[in-house]
Amino acid sequence: MVHFVGAGPGAPDLITLRGAELLRSADVIIYAGSLVNPALLKMAGEDCEIYNSAEMTLEDVLEVMERAEREKKNTVRLHTGDPCLYGAIREQMDALDSRGIPYDDTPGVSSFCGAAAALGAEYTLPDVSQSVIITRMAGRTPVPEGENLASLASHGASLVLFLSAGMLDKVQEELLRGGAYTAETLAALVYKATWPEEKVVRCTVGTLARTAQEAGIRKTALVLVGDFLGDAYSRSKLYDPAFTTEFREGRP
Ligand code: SAH
Repeated sequence: MVHFVGAGPGAPDLITLRGAELLRSADVIIYAGSLVNPALLKMAGEDCEIYNSAEMTLEDVLEVMERAEREKKNTVRLHTGDPCLYGAIREQMDALDSRGIPYDDTPGVSSFCGAAAALGAEYTLPDVSQSVIITRMAGRTPVPEGENLASLASHGASLVLFLSAGMLDKVQEELLRGGAYTAETLAALVYKATWPEEKVVRCTVGTLARTAQEAGIRKTALVLVGDFLGDAYSRSKLYDPAFTTEFREGRP
């Protein structure tokens, strides 16, 4: 059987208990290269075969999984953060389906959650934003035209960009073209959230590219944009003394 496992954003104690147990009992681990903290691989048993998928094609990965299955071994496919975001798991799952190899998926803490934690931020602040847009800048890998960054930026919602820290000139341009953010809108770069070398830099949309250059950040970083990074918001209704909920009577 193949277990897809979310490794979490970096810190080895941010993997789930289930993920850790699967790692400990794995016969084969295929991990997603430098984005997975090597400390996690130390959980593996002595006889575990370990492969770095950064050096492999989809076909190579499937070959390892198929062989392991023939030998009645357990494979862990270890993806960074949560496998459901930019994990390329669907193509693996479909290939396993067509080969009749069973699999399951154990979620992990995505890096966009690790980045919010590093900033002490909440994406969904009352009267500021109640939506989080997770996307990427189109580069060598395209993004469907209906999701071009400028159009997503037109909402003014909390926005997280994966895989885009190396294209910040273009990112700035597109964010401003959307019309809802200005050059002064708050932004942040979080490099290697939850790793020992984590770096957090606050800036504005207009200074994203310069800030990244000064901080030496080019990859393994998230770009966060929106007024949720500021100080103005309304307090929650849920914890407002005057607000009645299913569990608590409001008092004037
Ligand atoms: N599935 C992963 C994302 C994989 S795509 C998740 O849920 O987080 C790889 C991109 O994720 C990187 O280019 C970077 O933009 C981001 N990323 C992954 N780990 C990160 C971390 N610890 N800190 C900041 N960004 C990270």
